Amino acid sequence: MSDITWHGGHFSRPQRWAALGHAGATIWLTGLSGSGKSTIAAAVEARLLEAGRPAYMLDGDNLRHGLNAGLGFSAEDRDENVRRVGEVALLMAEAGTVALVCLISPFRAGRDRARAAHAAAGLDFFEVWVNTPIEVCRRRDPKGLYARAEAGAIQSFTGIDSPYEEPVRPELEIRTDEVDLAEAVARVVGLLD
Ligand code: ADP
Repeated sequence: MSDITWHGGHFSRPQRWAALGHAGATIWLTGLSGSGKSTIAAAVEARLLEAGRPAYMLDGDNLRHGLNAGLGFSAEDRDENVRRVGEVALLMAEAGTVALVCLISPFRAGRDRARAAHAAAGLDFFEVWVNTPIEVCRRRDPKGLYARAEAGAIQSFTGIDSPYEEPVRPELEIRTDEVDLAEAVARVVGLLD
């Protein structure tokens, strides 16, 4: 590593953001499977793009097709999955895009590491806890995963036989059984003001 030198570009971050007319940031949605992370992130992405603001959804399931192909759901692999997504989000934020991370990210340490990396880089990081009760997630079961986990066809499923560590001080908490999608989107977009 000591032979590797950081090669800067010609534009500083403020110059880059001024040239683009937009500032980057990371919005990190965490919560159980089926809690509504992807649904909310997709709607927020659309809202921002319609307003001309660069935004990009980093969906954990989607990234497992490419960047994170080969990683499973052991504690180590989940940790590496979260680490990589955190690094990609940071680069996107640096580049001037609003990175919308949707990742169960069940462990506090992984989320805190992404937060710390953004803080060290001087980039905004907003943790959004999509706090939907597990009974509601189980009832929705949009991908049929709860049914399969309960039948024993999937192991280490968050909320069933793998823990979810609740955020301690999220910037925003959304109970999707209490607020509708439009309100959830408004609250998330409001973080950027
Ligand atoms: P996750 O990305 O957290 O696994 P998804 O977004 O894939 O969850 O699925 C959430 C499901 O809950 C979708 O079928 C969505 O239509 C439904 N849903 C119902 N009410 C809400 C709400 N207020 N916010 C977000 N999703 C909701």
